Amino acid sequence: MSKKRILITGGAGFLGSHLSERLLNEGNEIICLDNYFTGAKENIEHLMDNPYFEVVRHDVTSPYFAEVDEIYNLACPASPVHYQYNPIKTIKTSVMGAINMLGLAKRVNAKIFQASTSEVYGDPHEHPQRESYWGNVNPIGIRSCYDEGKRCAETLFMDYHNQNKVDIKIVRIFNTYGPRMNPEDGRVVSNFIVQALRGEDITIFGDGQQTRSFQYVDDLIEGFVRLMNTPKGFTGPVNIGNPNEFTMLELAENVLDLVGSSSKLTYMPLPKDDPKQRQPDITLAQKELGWEPKVQLREGLMKTIEYFDEYLKRAK
Ligand code: NAD
Ligand code: UDP
Repeated sequence: MSKKRILITGGAGFLGSHLSERLLNEGNEIICLDNYFTGAKENIEHLMDNPYFEVVRHDVTSPYFAEVDEIYNLACPASPVHYQYNPIKTIKTSVMGAINMLGLAKRVNAKIFQASTSEVYGDPHEHPQRESYWGNVNPIGIRSCYDEGKRCAETLFMDYHNQNKVDIKIVRIFNTYGPRMNPEDGRVVSNFIVQALRGEDITIFGDGQQTRSFQYVDDLIEGFVRLMNTPKGFTGPVNIGNPNEFTMLELAENVLDLVGSSSKLTYMPLPKDDPKQRQPDITLAQKELGWEPKVQLREGLMKTIEYFDEYLKRAK
């Protein structure tokens, strides 16, 4: 395969760092663009010596120009704690970021990929969620800056495709975990693992009966690359997630068991608009991408626990 020049926005984040690694290993040249709001140089430190890896500090709410073949648009804080910190900035990042990157794609004739989210389904009335479901999203709630920003970005992607023939790909990512998650961002997998490793109480929000379907990062990245390589005209959106659904109590039990921790559970109020259940229907990804998740929860949790164990020892 010939070397491509690929722009990854949000490249210093959790997913962006794994994607950068994968695409570099395939012999491509990467421009990693990030404003370091939730990302970290530490995530990409191991790639810095590679002459084909270039890092640019830049905010996607401002235009950026470069000659590239492909763009993966990942820039956006992803965890509720971070995206609610500055909601106006969050929605600007999704909407203006999409406009700026789509403008670039149009100008240089690049293929462009949008990291959308299962949050576009909101608190879903259809279960599991298929791509054809329009969702149940509160437009004026505390999660709206993220959910509606991502929905608007999808609209922009489809409109640039329909109106300007830009080659677009949209993925709807379901909860993903793995090494290099930000331990401070309040997501449930990193919270439970860090709490269990430190012997602190495990914080269950609500009664812990709400569900999520957790996928390991390597499976997601495989899905990304397969989607990007589909023929022009196949746009998605495509759900990429692991359909195995767990309650938060089941997740906590698994983490405690794998860590061998005697942490106790503590119950805290359920955040507003917290979806009750979420599970992807992955029929489309199976059919169009030949993709299925391979890593099951306990195996993925073990790898993530090893990472956080090392991380916490380093941080001491
Ligand atoms: P992350 O917070 O680790 O990464 C996001 C990256 O974007 C960070 O490096 C951050 O510094 C950067 N960023 C934020 N605002 C920016 C801006 N204005 N300009 C430039 N860079 C900016 O989160 P992640 O889990 O790696 O998520 C990556 C993408 O995938 C996000 O778009 C997120 O919405 C989407 N997503 C993730 C999940 C998940 O479970 N991890 C689920 C659904 C969707
Ligand atoms: N959650 C929890 N304890 C925590 C963090 C989160 O019980 O310490 C719950 C949260 O209320 C939600 C689920 O875990 O129901 C997943 O939360 P996360 O922020 O990881 O992802 P999202 O809500 O965006 O799917």
